[in-house]
Amino acid sequence: MAALDHLVDALRKLPGIGPKSAQRIAYHLLQHDRAAAAQLAAGLTAALDQVQTCTRCHGFAESPVCAVCLDAQRDPALLCVVESPADQAVIERSGSYRGYYFVLGGRVSPLDGRGPRDVGAEALLARAGDGRVAEVILATSFTAEGEATAYLLGEALKARGLKVSRLARGVPIGAELEYVDLGTLAHALADRR
Ligand code: ZN
Repeated sequence: MAALDHLVDALRKLPGIGPKSAQRIAYHLLQHDRAAAAQLAAGLTAALDQVQTCTRCHGFAESPVCAVCLDAQRDPALLCVVESPADQAVIERSGSYRGYYFVLGGRVSPLDGRGPRDVGAEALLARAGDGRVAEVILATSFTAEGEATAYLLGEALKARGLKVSRLARGVPIGAELEYVDLGTLAHALADRR
């Protein structure tokens, strides 16, 4: 059955889904939950069509500039640098940050030949140098690559005379920001140094 095989193949590409899970999900949706399957298909189509990259922070947006960047109530002196739109969402949910964001295109990975330029360092320097940003908070993950990213970007930002801070410890070493609980994250933001 070609259509069913294609569905299983597509599900297998999702993070954390192996061949058995992919098969189980596909059979479940088609046999027991066709309404959920239709909702999933429609949701994916709509999101692919409408979600774009914010031209200012490079996070997710449903217009050229995202709602966070358009929010004039935020503190323009604070710029928080994260690795992904998912990490930005985590910090937003913590409710402990009222500045703006810059979303990198991942993290520096010397072994894969990914340097600062590849994650958007130049766009970050341009954004941070807008004359209003006073402090850049590096909220990359506490993995080796996240630390390397923070170090390299931090040096470049400091060379331009910007104050640079890092999320305080308390976030477990090796942790992806996405999986850190919100209370810990709020604390790490408040105690940044
Ligand atoms: Zn934005």
